[in-house]
Amino acid sequence: MTTASTASSTPTPALDANWAGFRGLELVRGEGPYVFDTEGRRFLDATSMYGVAALGHAHPALARAVAHQSGRLTSCFASFANDARNELLGRLHTLLDPLDRFFLCNSGTEAVEAALKFARRSTGRAGVVALAGAFHGRTLGSLSATFRSKHRDAFQPLLPGFAHVRAGDTAALERALDADGTGLFLAEIIQGEGGVRPVSGAFLHRAQELCRERGILFAVDEVQTGIGRTGRWFGFRHHGLEPDLVCLAKGLGGGLPIGALAFRAAADAVDLGSHGSTFGGNPLCCAAANSVLETIETEGLVEQTAQAGARLLAHLRQLLANELGTRVRDVRGQGLMIGVELAASGVPVQKRLQDRGFLVLGAGPRVLRLLPPLTTPWEALEELGTALAEEVTR
Ligand code: PLP
Repeated sequence: MTTASTASSTPTPALDANWAGFRGLELVRGEGPYVFDTEGRRFLDATSMYGVAALGHAHPALARAVAHQSGRLTSCFASFANDARNELLGRLHTLLDPLDRFFLCNSGTEAVEAALKFARRSTGRAGVVALAGAFHGRTLGSLSATFRSKHRDAFQPLLPGFAHVRAGDTAALERALDADGTGLFLAEIIQGEGGVRPVSGAFLHRAQELCRERGILFAVDEVQTGIGRTGRWFGFRHHGLEPDLVCLAKGLGGGLPIGALAFRAAADAVDLGSHGSTFGGNPLCCAAANSVLETIETEGLVEQTAQAGARLLAHLRQLLANELGTRVRDVRGQGLMIGVELAASGVPVQKRLQDRGFLVLGAGPRVLRLLPPLTTPWEALEELGTALAEEVTR
């Protein structure tokens, strides 16, 4: 566990100056798909700050909505109704129908925790089946569903009753989904932290079918893939799935902290007072989310993301064609969630790209992950693809 450093040269007091994850930049401003550091250097933010800045940075509509709401009402707990929250609940219902109930919280891990608690209460079973390679968050319940030992080991023992099945292994899935003990199946549609790995639609359909047969809730974690990121409003729409529970966060608030668990009134065996959050559903974050959802709709960003993503994937595949099988293992993804799997560590490439003004993410040791804002113009994406290919082949 890192502790706050007191060194005056430490750029941010929340970090240990020696932490390997620190990138050596102090960012002070953003505009569209770009962020700027203290020296005014500009970087194309192909991280969207972990997929959060769906509209890019300082989008005028989002800035206006937050400013307006901050002058009206920022805090309003769940025992009172609120206009901004009501609007958001209506918007989410329209997007996720027939899911019509929502627990609003402040992060992705809380949305997953809510799914875990919901499944326990409504099925009476505590068992959870997740996938090998999964990332669902870092609080103890979500961490128990998360797969990699890098995230888990320092915090053992985690919750009992969690099993991980390899995506695609239907025989193992059939064994793991135990009709007596399992209450919840939980999966990402494209595993993000796990290496930008799409999970096959056929496998997910089989999981959904088994869940229905055995009275198990079928949940999708759309914290990273949701809100247009993959070129559909939600990743599960690519496969025509009908989840019982959907976890959302990241892009939903466009930079303000909000998460949501969507479920169905008919499946609601849970007394609403049995779970809650002081900040969850606060009017300020709801106003931000309303503005994100409205802007995505009015600017046609879901369709734009589908097209831009397909174009960027083709551009990268063409530029890296000669490296496939040698320095590059795979180029994959959907919409603006793209992974380039290398044969060696991606860290040096990530560093060189930063020196050239492009911020990208890792996803495991050898995968470079691109999550640019949905608003990024094609010219900037093309430059990103070209720079990445140059740095990979250097
Ligand atoms: N689920 C998925 C698929 C994620 O990618 C993440 C974060 O990266 C989480 C859950 C946890 O979200 P948060 O960091 O907001 O708690």
